[in-house]
This record gives sequence, structure tokens and C-alpha cells, in this order.
Amino acid sequence: MSEHYELRCRECGRRWGNEPRTICDDCLAPLEITYDLEAVRDTFTRERIAQRPANLWRYIELLPVPADHQPLLPVGFTPLVEAPRLGKHWDAPHLFVKNDAVCFPSLSFKDRVVAVALVQARTFGFDVVSCSSTGNLANAVAAQAAQAGLSAWIFIPSDLEAAKIVGTEVYGARLVRINGNYDQVNRLCAQIADRYRWGFVNINLRPYYAEGSKTVGFEIAEQLGWRLPDNVVVPMAGGSLITKIQKAFNELIELGLVESKRVKFFGAQATGCSPISTAVKQGQERIQPQKPATLARSLAIGNPADGYYAIKAIRSSGGWAEDATDAEIVAAMRLLAEREGIFTETAGGVTVAVAEKLLAQGRIQPRETTVLCITGNGLKTTEALAEEFVESEAIEPRLAAFESYMAEALAAAPVPGD
Ligand SMILES: *Cc1c(COP(=O)(O)O)cnc(C)c1O
Ligand SMILES: [Zn+2]
Repeated sequence: MSEHYELRCRECGRRWGNEPRTICDDCLAPLEITYDLEAVRDTFTRERIAQRPANLWRYIELLPVPADHQPLLPVGFTPLVEAPRLGKHWDAPHLFVKNDAVCFPSLSFKDRVVAVALVQARTFGFDVVSCSSTGNLANAVAAQAAQAGLSAWIFIPSDLEAAKIVGTEVYGARLVRINGNYDQVNRLCAQIADRYRWGFVNINLRPYYAEGSKTVGFEIAEQLGWRLPDNVVVPMAGGSLITKIQKAFNELIELGLVESKRVKFFGAQATGCSPISTAVKQGQERIQPQKPATLARSLAIGNPADGYYAIKAIRSSGGWAEDATDAEIVAAMRLLAEREGIFTETAGGVTVAVAEKLLAQGRIQPRETTVLCITGNGLKTTEALAEEFVESEAIEPRLAAFESYMAEALAAAPVPGD
């Protein structure tokens, strides 16, 4: 092969070179990128990586982009922060938050997958990029297409949050709202991809896109001081992210950048759309598709493309999956904000609520190192909190008015403490 990476069938192993393709014609299984790890062993070292700028391109050898690619956007390398106050609340002292709520440029982990997919969209000569999206992917494609000077066609279910719609249109992307759920949108997009020569980041470019998710795993390992955690809790929509964090850890182990260690992967879904967590809990190997009905719109995929592999990743690691109701999601969003000052969207509420359940079940041990993947920003899903806070009455700009206001407010709700 001319590059050190290429497509390979996940089941029969047939190699397909590099082209816009997602499934193997021989056995219809999905394709995944495979690397010639020996070819990068000398340059992909802790020391060299440390000297590179703090963005996801510091892991370029393990991303499917041409070696001479000149990265433009500083995507990724979001903070991994300790979460001591949440940890105290749960009696789990070694808790970390990987905070992609502040990912550049569009405030979700989807910026990572799009950064990689657009490089290949260019390489393959697409002038139009496109996606089916539950919201964050729409924002990420629209923003990065604008920066790259590509036109973008974005397809979404019609019921998305207002901020995700404005946060797509503002970049000049063409936004198509579909009367239907994500799975119907995605089916339409597959038909469009057959008819038009467009680069659909999560359809014909999907294997390249998916590799971008690995950078969450690379960063967690590097930010822990080139060490793997005991547990990772990951929200699941299509089920790709969780499998790619595992792939990232395995590649680091194989290249000797971290010590080999068994990391347990825990998947998190919303109860109203839980095809993957349900399969794990019921001991099934395959997904039963569901009709989504959840506040967590970014995770509302009833027939997840990588569900089968997500189940495998969770099981083989010794992990588990759980799901959270709408009320639990909202409570968990507030808990993370109040305890750690991190405002996450509904998907992050799913992660936090599920982590709490897994600790209570004893599936996550409190003394272990656990990383919660917070994948999106709360300002995009303020609708979820609409019932939580009543608009306070405005007062006159006078000290006396403030003092009577304060007395009333403190009587109604004493100062929160530990
Ligand atoms: C897309 C998305 C996910 C899940 O990603 P998959 O790889 O499809 O499982 C998680 N969180 C947020 C905020 C997302 O937008
Ligand atoms: Zn095959």
C-alpha cells in the first residue's frame, strides 16, 4: 500500500486500499482502518508526541491521513480534569472528566471525527460534504466545511434542539430537516450517497471518520501520564466512540507507549433509546432496533451502526452498560455542573447518571481510576432544563431592595454546601 493505513474488512480481513467505502463487498461486514504499526514505531514515541502542538494532530501517525498532511485546525486535546467534588459525593476518589464540552471548534467530540473525515473528503476529491446527524455532527461538519471552503448538506431529524439548528445554519451550511427519526434520516442519506458524489462523513467516509474518535483514547492515556485508567464510561449513539477508545488503547499497548492493562468499558445510553445497553443487560449479541423517545437527542439512534461491535467491546473488557431516564439525565447534568463547574449537554447527563448507577451496583469499584467521557456542551440543550429554574423577579436597583430579596431567597433555599 502507498500509505501506512488502509481499509480492512472486520470479518473476512480482505484489504480494500483507500477509497470512500464502508462495507466489504464480499461479506457485507463493515470496514475499519488498519495500520502498519511497524512503519510508525520510530516516530510515534512519547518524546516526539510531547514536542508537538496540543491538538489531535499530535497523533498523526495513527490517523488515516496522508503523511504530508498539513493540519490547519487545532481540534481536540481537551482537558482531562480531576473531579474531586463529584468523587466525594460518590465516595470515589479517583474520578476524572474528559471534557469535550469545550472541544474546538463546535463544542463536542464530533469535531474530532470531522477533522479526520474532511482530510479524506479532500483527498478523494469531494466538493460537497454531508452527513446525517443527531445535532453535534451537523455543527461540526458545518463549521469545518466553512473553514475548508467546502459546501455542506446536512440532514437532521426535525425535532432537534434550537441551538443545534442555529449552530449549523450560522456557518452557511444547507440544512435539511426531515420528518422522521435519525434512522429514517440515515436511510435517506444512504440513498443520496448512492446517487450523488458527495462525501458523507458518517456513511461513505465512515471508517476514516471513526478513527478520529480514537484521539479521545490517546489523550486520556497521555494526560494520565501515559497510563491507562481502570474504567471508562462512554455515551453511545451509533456505538462507534466506545469501540474506538478501546482501539486507541490497544494500539498504544502494541506500540509500547503504555503498559498493557485490562480497561473496563462501560456504555451509557438513555432509557428511551437503549438498544445497546439493553442487549448488554439481556446478554444478547445483536441489537433489537428501538424507536427513540428521549431528551438525549444526540444519542437517539435506534438502530446503531456499530452496536454489534460496541456490545463486543463492552463484554470482552469485563465492562457493562446501563441507561438513564430523562429525569435522571437532568439531575445528573445539574450534579456535574454544581459539583465540578462543567455544563454538559444531555449526553453528558447520561454518562454521569450511568456512572452513578454502576458505582451503586458495584460494577465500578470506588478506589479505581475512572474516566467519564463528557462529549458535548450544555448550552446546546438548554431546553432540557426549561422546567428546572423559574425566572426570578427583577428588583429595583437599590440596596434595600436587594437586602429584602436576599432575605427571602435565603429563607426559601439555604446556601448549598457539602
Ligand atoms: C454522537 C455523540 C455521541 C456518541 O457517539 P457514537 O460514536 O455515535 O456512539 C456521544 N455524545 C455526543 C454528545 C454525541 O454527539
Ligand atoms: Zn469481508
